[in-house]
Amino acid sequence: MNKILEGKVKTVYDVDGEADKVIIEFHDKVTAGNGRRVDFPLGKGSLCCSISALIFKQLAKEHIPTHYINMIGDNKMICEKVNIVPIEVVVRNVAAGGIVRETCVKEGIRFPYPLVEFYLKDDEKNDPLLTPDRLNVMGYTPILTDLMASKALKVNDILIDLFNKLDITLVDFKLEFGHEKTSGHLLLADEISPDSMRLWKKGTRERFDKDLFRKDEGDIVEAYKYILQKLLQFV
Ligand code: UDP
Repeated sequence: MNKILEGKVKTVYDVDGEADKVIIEFHDKVTAGNGRRVDFPLGKGSLCCSISALIFKQLAKEHIPTHYINMIGDNKMICEKVNIVPIEVVVRNVAAGGIVRETCVKEGIRFPYPLVEFYLKDDEKNDPLLTPDRLNVMGYTPILTDLMASKALKVNDILIDLFNKLDITLVDFKLEFGHEKTSGHLLLADEISPDSMRLWKKGTRERFDKDLFRKDEGDIVEAYKYILQKLLQFV
């Protein structure tokens, strides 16, 4: 397969004879601290691939267009080829992670409304938080950023309902968008998995996400398996 792009935990390939599609391979690999910590947990790639596929399918049912087409094998998916918008869109329902480290907000505080934040997708610059003016001078119009924010909030509503059924609080998550190569339509892209979300058991705040690895507090494979098994009961 012809490799187009190698990310930290995924590789993107061309599809023979299908110029508008790609194959995304999810590796048994996890990183934290901008790639400074790495591990290779067996089965992790297929878990993130399967969870992302289930979530993309659920979002499609709710009329959110995504790049996902179908899975091939247990750790690969065929997707629409997109030009990725190099902006990470984060939605926060409960304070954790960056917002706790960088402000005086205490972990676990539920926000009165979901926060939508934009970060530059650039590891060398450490993914800085962007302001509306910075987005503007970088050429990202409010038309695009408002559209990404409104789609992100719609995804938030759908995922909150879904994870409520699992007795899990959706604390926060990160989305990436891309423009479809041929039509230019804005599609949800990348992955949506416990690598890119914070998921806490209601009541106990037990974690089922990548923070287990970031904080060295447990086995992500067992946690991700639990999420996949629970999702399969409800979608
Ligand atoms: N996130 C991600 N990729 C990134 C940065 C963040 O998937 O490069 C996810 C992260 O897993 C969490 C949410 O986005 O669910 C918010 O992350 P935060 O800004 O708190 O940063 P972190 O504490 O992960 O550095």
